[in-house]
Amino acid sequence: MKVIMLGAPGAGKGTQAKKIAAKYHVPHISTGDIFRANIKNGTELGKKAKTYMDQGLLVPDELVVDLVVDRVNQEDCVDGYVLDGFPRTIPQAEALDKALAALGQKVDYAINVEVPDENIVTRMGGRRACVGCGATYHLEYAPTKKEGICDACGRELILRDDDKPETVTKRLNVYHEQTQPLIDYYTQAGILKEVDGTVDIEEVFRAITVILGE
Ligand code: ADP
Ligand code: ADP
Ligand code: ZN
Repeated sequence: MKVIMLGAPGAGKGTQAKKIAAKYHVPHISTGDIFRANIKNGTELGKKAKTYMDQGLLVPDELVVDLVVDRVNQEDCVDGYVLDGFPRTIPQAEALDKALAALGQKVDYAINVEVPDENIVTRMGGRRACVGCGATYHLEYAPTKKEGICDACGRELILRDDDKPETVTKRLNVYHEQTQPLIDYYTQAGILKEVDGTVDIEEVFRAITVILGE
């Protein structure tokens, strides 16, 4: 089962992708997480990516595509995967399709998690990320058991720099310009599925399991 998560920044792609990965036993591949791990480890890729991420811009396609193609060719991906945050541009989608076609494969579902822009800024303002393991919480909608402390690993939580309101607005504009066209792309491919992302986390997931099968 090969699944792509589409949606604005903060729509809940990561939250749902983790739940899909757990239920259907496929790896969760988040390009944002891969870049943040590279930044933390001080790699060349991390240094390059950071300059774009800090500005709320997309990392150039050539820095993303090979990374993802290599990742989905690894052994743990034979039964599928859930891609979160990739593709984000038409050229990325075309590159993925081409790489899969060369193996006689294709994407099965592109799930668009729909959340209007008005809701996004509050979502992002309340998002907190663990400095240790990268787990994501929300002050109001997905709180930790102990305030400010990661349930999974016990480290402290932060507001990501790119989740500050100025950058969120910029990222939303980038989303509308560069990523939203993918909705038409996957509609034409006949694999687009829409879910309402404004309802609570479990309800969104129920809608997704109806699409993917129990
Ligand atoms: P969110 O989950 O809030 O949408 P991500 O963690 O997916 O954010 O991504 C954070 C940042 O990493 C993006 O704003 C962008 O700069 C960069 N990034 C992640 N995935 C991609 C991609 N596929 N193409 C280009 N840039 C990306
Ligand atoms: P994305 O990966 O699309 O950027 P996240 O999964 O990180 O989005 O979710 C953004 C923020 O909103 C997080 O703080 C998360 O806990 C919270 N969140 C996710 N889904 C919902 C939902 N259905 N209702 C309320 N808050 C949500
Ligand atoms: Zn943690």
